Amino acid sequence: MSYIPEPIEKLARELSRLPGLGIKTAYRIAFHIADSRDLDAEGFSDAVKQVKDRIKICRTCFGYSVDDECRICSDDSRDKRSLCVVERPQDIFVIERGGFRGSYHVLHGVIAPLDGIGPSDIKLAELFDKVRSGNVGELVIALNPSIEGDATTMYIAKSITDLKIRVSRLARGVPAGASIDYVDDTTLCRAIEERQDISC
Ligand SMILES: [Zn+2]
Repeated sequence: MSYIPEPIEKLARELSRLPGLGIKTAYRIAFHIADSRDLDAEGFSDAVKQVKDRIKICRTCFGYSVDDECRICSDDSRDKRSLCVVERPQDIFVIERGGFRGSYHVLHGVIAPLDGIGPSDIKLAELFDKVRSGNVGELVIALNPSIEGDATTMYIAKSITDLKIRVSRLARGVPAGASIDYVDDTTLCRAIEERQDISC
């Protein structure tokens, strides 16, 4: 049996479910919180609760938002004809760091047959509706450079070859297999500026 007091044990177990936190680190943080005299426990737990209660999916780009439509989609100064496709809501803020000033579409995943994720399991139909509406002049596909990300990029490009719009992907400054949020700002700016057209 464990002699660790139950509240510390419980907190460590909850923390260890977070990505990148092993059980040892989770215990270290739980003990640190027990040690800490000036930690605002109420403020801390309220911040977690606010994220779960107030964050919803933007009706236009499917990114995260407090309102029905996010601040990027409701900003009229943004270029709505240039649409950047990303995998996850947080990728929007990575691409923003690279200086992109168009609009976004979040797929909420990529096609991954081995995990049973097909085209209809992610927001592809919604993307094609947007593109076929005639309001998009350029599609910048900024998925992570994984096998699944690359396959999804080609799937999108092939599905809209009949349309006369520019389709590009980030330049290969982004290392293969890496997640785009690990890329430094300079590399990211260059990957967006030097985006490469996809020809099918
Ligand atoms: Zn939005």
